[in-house]
Amino acid sequence: MNRKKQVKEYTYTVCKRCILNNGPLTYTTFDDKGICNNCRNFEALAKKTLWISRNRNNKKLKDILSTIKKVRGRSGYDCILGLSGGADSSYLAYMAHAWGLHPLVVHFDNGWNSEIAVKNIHAIVNKLGYDLYTYVIDWDEFRDIQLAYVKASVIDLEVPTDHFIYATLYEIAQKRGIKYILDGNNIATEFPGGSWKWNYSKIDLINLLNIHKKFGTIKLRKFPKLGLFQRLYYQHIARIKTVYLLNYVDYNKKKAKETLKKELGWKDYGGKHYESIFTRFYQGYMLPKKFNIDKRRIHFSNLIWSGQMTRREALRELKKPTYSKRDQELDKTYVLKKFGLHSEEFEKMMRAPIVPHEVYGTEDQKYSLLIYILTRVMRISNSIKKKVN
Ligand SMILES: [Zn+2]
Repeated sequence: MNRKKQVKEYTYTVCKRCILNNGPLTYTTFDDKGICNNCRNFEALAKKTLWISRNRNNKKLKDILSTIKKVRGRSGYDCILGLSGGADSSYLAYMAHAWGLHPLVVHFDNGWNSEIAVKNIHAIVNKLGYDLYTYVIDWDEFRDIQLAYVKASVIDLEVPTDHFIYATLYEIAQKRGIKYILDGNNIATEFPGGSWKWNYSKIDLINLLNIHKKFGTIKLRKFPKLGLFQRLYYQHIARIKTVYLLNYVDYNKKKAKETLKKELGWKDYGGKHYESIFTRFYQGYMLPKKFNIDKRRIHFSNLIWSGQMTRREALRELKKPTYSKRDQELDKTYVLKKFGLHSEEFEKMMRAPIVPHEVYGTEDQKYSLLIYILTRVMRISNSIKKKVN
């Protein structure tokens, strides 16, 4: 049976509260009221974090900010902030200034920045008086890894970019003696649920290297890596912590964008994560066409959960194309040219059967015993700490 037929024959059920559906590439299940597990998971987490009283949230935020401010690194920064030019990280940069933090702003240039993203970054840094460190990836290596992922027919083509961002942030923090990394991820707009298979682990270096070994063509000499041992070193010996400060404020995407436009001359670039041309093409063209996934379902559902969009609005928006057909074609030409791919080769890759990431081997499989022992040791050490306290 070919894939198109499989997709066509699958009958989707859509959640009655959000707009997520089930399907072969999700773990979505429904209760007897037709509400999905993602809605329930969000509720449970939000009760513990988002919906706790304003005063308690404020106190927590104050405590975290004063802890961050206590440790200035060798170069005078108390934290690092990764800035993509998108709404979440831009708003975090704006708030960090209001909170009196001194971040070193780091931007990752993986070769796919849109013009608007670059303008946004410079506007923010200039207006807020931040120092900007732009890390430019070796394009030949990065192109080789991204292409390897496309050839491997796996679903999460964003792993190389995200891996590279996390690895670089840790590396810079460690070199400069900075103990805190500010991350724009947040529950209100980016709930880290595990109910969809398009989101593969961004820190699985074994999977990344195996995919590249099989489908890559050049040696990786400069690509920043974040394996299990590097993570253990950064987190437990260098004691570098990642903090998600947008979870402590009433983060409303629409209001945040208005503030950014008014205060910093920031410009909107359309869909979520569309500040990168590759991401726009991957989310708006490749995911729907090859994997039959419309990522807007999760983005809009997230806004429904946090009370920033109604279900009706979400369904109405979903009927529109991911972005204009004309821009999709322009992006396709641009992406193929940048990758050095012929149209026929690309179409063949688009038609190839989907392969789960796990097929190529994972960190969990390779270090299963070590991970088991480490988890046990950490559990025991945490319970001792709790008892002592
Ligand atoms: Zn739901």
